[in-house]
Amino acid sequence: SRQAAIAAVRGPGRTKDGHRVPLLANVGGPGDLDPALANGAEGVGLYRTEFLFLDRAQAPSIEEQEDAYRAVLEAFPAGKVVVRTLDAGADKPLAFLKPSAPEPNPALGERGLRMFRLHPEVMAVQLAALAAAAQGVDAELQVMAPMVATAEEARWFAGACRAAGLPSAGVMIEVPAAALRADRIAQEVDFFSIGTNDLSQYTFAADRQVGALAGLQDPWQPALLDLVAATATAASDNGRPCGVCGESAADPVLACVLVGLGVSTLSMSATALPAVRAALALSTLDECGRAAHAARGQATARHARAAARSNLPGLA
Ligand code: PEP
Ligand code: MG
Repeated sequence: SRQAAIAAVRGPGRTKDGHRVPLLANVGGPGDLDPALANGAEGVGLYRTEFLFLDRAQAPSIEEQEDAYRAVLEAFPAGKVVVRTLDAGADKPLAFLKPSAPEPNPALGERGLRMFRLHPEVMAVQLAALAAAAQGVDAELQVMAPMVATAEEARWFAGACRAAGLPSAGVMIEVPAAALRADRIAQEVDFFSIGTNDLSQYTFAADRQVGALAGLQDPWQPALLDLVAATATAASDNGRPCGVCGESAADPVLACVLVGLGVSTLSMSATALPAVRAALALSTLDECGRAAHAARGQATARHARAAARSNLPGLA
């Protein structure tokens, strides 16, 4: 059966012709680690740390944060763990971190890294807890900031990571301005991770929480593929890795297209890993590239998907 064929593909992510694509898990807390391991995640591509901060009157102490971060690092001794700093605001409001004034449009307000500019002391504690958690563990820790819009913000965050003694600093690319200026931003940081959920929301001016706009949130939209392509090219021109950690990476056909656009790692909900691993194993890097090119040549999301599929004979 199809399920059995998917389950039979094991080991690290690679295309049919052996091009390595590390397959990583999105996690929100300790409960997500067992499913990630059971589904063969090679590491964590997105640790959403805000879950540790939700439903609290104050930020968790540095010790509590350090313990939580170390638990994730210890689950993947041979892998990398990409931790996203607090993405507060908008769809993830926190009681103790409020914007400086009431916001009619919180998704366009003081959220993500912008909130750290208002409360740099909260950032300093989180970065210090991460640096402490990385001491004496084997996993490779990478730290990244959400909602970065400009190269100046990326530079500010990278400086704070260096000051905290962290070995690497990256940014999520989830604002169109950052995708358009990815070349400049790549000169400030060590890696990118594209958040296609928010990148869709902001590119199409379509609230991710409004179900009626799902068609505009479709990650097959060619305009989104164009921004992913521009970001991946800028990363590679600067010798920087570029992952995708939005929901788009969980679609096996789109995962092949993302690889064809030049994305170097894919991170997703653990349960999506086996089907993505199997789809990559059935497609060559060249086929992924042709599928990506064909998809970008279409006018609609539906046509983009169909064009991609017809260039991926292994998935027929
Ligand atoms: C994204 O925006 O694509 C993303 C991965 O982050 P979140 O869904 O947590 O905003
Ligand atoms: Mg996001």
